[in-house]
Amino acid sequence: MLKKTIHTLEQKFTSSSSRTCDVHLKWNNLFRNWVRNISSNTQNDTTTSYSVPREKVDCIVIGAGVVGIAVARALALKGREVIVIESAPSFGTGTSSRNSEVVHAGIYYPRHSFKATFCVRGREMLYKYCSEHDIPHEQTGKLIVATRSSEIPKLNDILNRGIQNGVDGLKMMEGVDAMKMEPELQCVKAILSSLSGIVDSHSLMLSLVGEAENNRTIFTYNSTVIGGHIDGNEISLHISETKSLKEWNGTSILQPELVLVPKLVVNSAGLSAPALAKRFTGLQNRVVPPAYYARGCYFTLSNTKAAPFKHLIYPIPEDGGLGVHVTLDLNGQVKFGPDVEWIDGVDDISSFQNEFDYSVNANRAEKFYPEIRKYYPNLKDGSLEPGYSGIRPKLSGPYQSPVDFVIQGEDIHGVSGLINLFGIESPGLTSSLAIADFISTKFL
Ligand SMILES: Cc1cc2nc3c(=O)[nH]c(=O)nc-3n(C[C@H](O)[C@H](O)[C@H](O)COP(=O)(O)OP(=O)(O)OC[C@H]3O[C@@H](n4cnc5c(N)ncnc54)[C@H](O)[C@@H]3O)c2cc1C
Repeated sequence: MLKKTIHTLEQKFTSSSSRTCDVHLKWNNLFRNWVRNISSNTQNDTTTSYSVPREKVDCIVIGAGVVGIAVARALALKGREVIVIESAPSFGTGTSSRNSEVVHAGIYYPRHSFKATFCVRGREMLYKYCSEHDIPHEQTGKLIVATRSSEIPKLNDILNRGIQNGVDGLKMMEGVDAMKMEPELQCVKAILSSLSGIVDSHSLMLSLVGEAENNRTIFTYNSTVIGGHIDGNEISLHISETKSLKEWNGTSILQPELVLVPKLVVNSAGLSAPALAKRFTGLQNRVVPPAYYARGCYFTLSNTKAAPFKHLIYPIPEDGGLGVHVTLDLNGQVKFGPDVEWIDGVDDISSFQNEFDYSVNANRAEKFYPEIRKYYPNLKDGSLEPGYSGIRPKLSGPYQSPVDFVIQGEDIHGVSGLINLFGIESPGLTSSLAIADFISTKFL
């Protein structure tokens, strides 16, 4: 019976993730072997109401976004055996492919916060990694601009904060000098941040996945962690094929198809991390912060012959975000965004399948034009086209103070071997390698 179940699982997992590229073929083989190993020494899970294969493993990372992948790689480089469980058919399909792809310098965040520390360190690590691994990136530099004199005190605060955070290369400029650098720009003063830049996040993730796999990490796609339970110092993760969730009627009790018992688990499920942690029976609910979601839409620039700017252009930050800014991608495409739209989440199971609403309402452009024209007055009517959107995994709501990244280990929640990552919003991409280094240093 058990062998039959595992054989079925093997078929399911391998067929649902069939790929043509080498990486995935390799993964299929690895995962097949892994399931075979399980079949030789698997016990049944006694905490579920029916027979489910149960296996002890070393490390599990939940979620193959840029942070989860970086963590998996860091653990693997330290000799740990890592399995990454990802609900989607591939890596990086969540927030990690729905952002500005900006390498932030580390200016905005409170001194000594995780955001400040990891952004500054992560940026250095990221540029080094990109140079060493031929990841497309460019240190474009960025201008943070005050478009009226009443904004100058805020610009001064931003500069001071950046200096306190140890960001090198910051320079306050008069508006005329900034406008000489960028003739389409209108501003009264600006901070030049020469260390800011852009990165091809997909190439970055692909490279990190490759390195992790070369160090024996197994990526299991189309597989969702639906919950778990904590018994003493042991955490059991309940795993289902994502396809089974799609077929679920929403009312029957959701049963796992596999139970894994890792020595170390990193909950790096992005937008879903708090909802998932609440499904770990035995973890005190009070340690899981409330989750808020803020969608950010992008519009691309059309009808304009050449890119109007060479630098990234950022206005003064707004509530919930950094303001509708100009970013460039490595193909020279100009995009504006993201704005901030507070939205409700979705139910847990839909969130595990990334069923958030990512549509971009074309009418939102009406709000973009006046915002952008504050610093780019020549923006032509009809030149903005809906692009894409991303959703910020926030831990504070509208008009509340921003909250730092939350990285919870045993010292916070009392469960050994469980690390929760909550609220990994911007600058999470920039910080990913530093977060991974922190976890693999502090928790091993
Ligand atoms: C609009 C926007 C702009 C941004 N711009 C920047 C920027 O310019 N620079 C910067 O540094 N940062 C930026 N960020 C932040 C950055 O994108 C994120 O911090 C980063 O991508 C988070 O990565 P992650 O791995 O934590 O999450 P994700 O990329 O969301 O990955 C989580 C993964 O977990 C999977 N998952 C979820 N639930 C389960 C489950 N139950 N079982 C298995 N798998 C599961 C999901 O499918 C997903 O693949 C921006 C964010 C947004 C929203």
